[in-house]
Amino acid sequence: MKKALKNLQIEVSTFCGMRCSFCPRNLFSFKWKQKNMDLGLYRRISKVFPLVEYVHLQGWGEPLQNPDLQEMIRIAKENGCKVGLTTNGVLIDDKMAEFLLESVDRITFSLGGASKETHERIRVGSSYERLLNRIRIISKGRKGKKPIIAITFQLTRDNIEELSSVVKLAYELGVDEVIAPNVDYVPNREVEKMVVFSCSKADKNFLRKIEEAKKTAKELNIAFGSRSLEMLETPVCAEDPLESAFISVNGDISPCVYLNLPTEGEKIERIFCGKEVRVNKVIFGSIAEKTFEDIWNSPRYREFRDHFHKRSVAWKGPVDIFNLSGEVPSLPEPCKTCYKAYSI
Ligand code: SF4
Repeated sequence: MKKALKNLQIEVSTFCGMRCSFCPRNLFSFKWKQKNMDLGLYRRISKVFPLVEYVHLQGWGEPLQNPDLQEMIRIAKENGCKVGLTTNGVLIDDKMAEFLLESVDRITFSLGGASKETHERIRVGSSYERLLNRIRIISKGRKGKKPIIAITFQLTRDNIEELSSVVKLAYELGVDEVIAPNVDYVPNREVEKMVVFSCSKADKNFLRKIEEAKKTAKELNIAFGSRSLEMLETPVCAEDPLESAFISVNGDISPCVYLNLPTEGEKIERIFCGKEVRVNKVIFGSIAEKTFEDIWNSPRYREFRDHFHKRSVAWKGPVDIFNLSGEVPSLPEPCKTCYKAYSI
């Protein structure tokens, strides 16, 4: 039976032992709030689990930093949810590998390059050999198709040359999927210089690299996913706020991770198509004070989702008609300067 909520992303930790070159945690370290989610708070969240299909235990941090992670996974499984997480792999020892093999449905590893040099330059603090070793342990330890193993390889100008090699490496490691997202949250000018997408025309060389990787993935029978390298407005962003939500380490509910970073202050800073933008964090309530259902059904949250709902209903014609007619309702204000709203 289809459940009411497709995806609930829960930020169980905002700690991380790495300093990835494009990560806001690294760049905003002076105002980052480091915290692990309290198990009592997580238990309150779990009341909504019977309505949730998939729980993803990750936000702006490394989930394995939370000492209660195993219990958190157990609780989600007991409530009939599929469970997954994204990890840098550093804290997976043999015992944790065994636990993950028996419990989660999906595990995604963050990789920075197909070579030691590139990986360790981008994913600062990670050991390439250790990460590959951990991926191998998980893939060899599987008894069947579970957990699904994926590699996420965020594309930068510095590593896109290695995309096809990453697909080949994934194949050798026994990985099922390679996801190649853009660096879609751009916290400052330095990160802006790293991105491979464009607010005008996509770079032909970068497009070719993606096509080559797709071809390699097809030949090796590995699932492959990437995003657009140029702006294409969509009715509902890939985070799908109509059927998904994000709960921060403090229990605050937002539509997605992009609208609530664990930083001091009420604003989120980002660069959008060359402009420095500051938008208000979007939080509809705290699970520490109200139930998920009360927050989800609050007028303000409904009004936010209504933008996307009306857009998806109106989005019948071809894209150029949308662009010319202006008949499709606008995005919510904070989403207008989010790359995810434009297929990036
Ligand atoms: S458009 Fe961006 S900010 Fe808005 S809901 Fe989607 S991912 Fe979040």
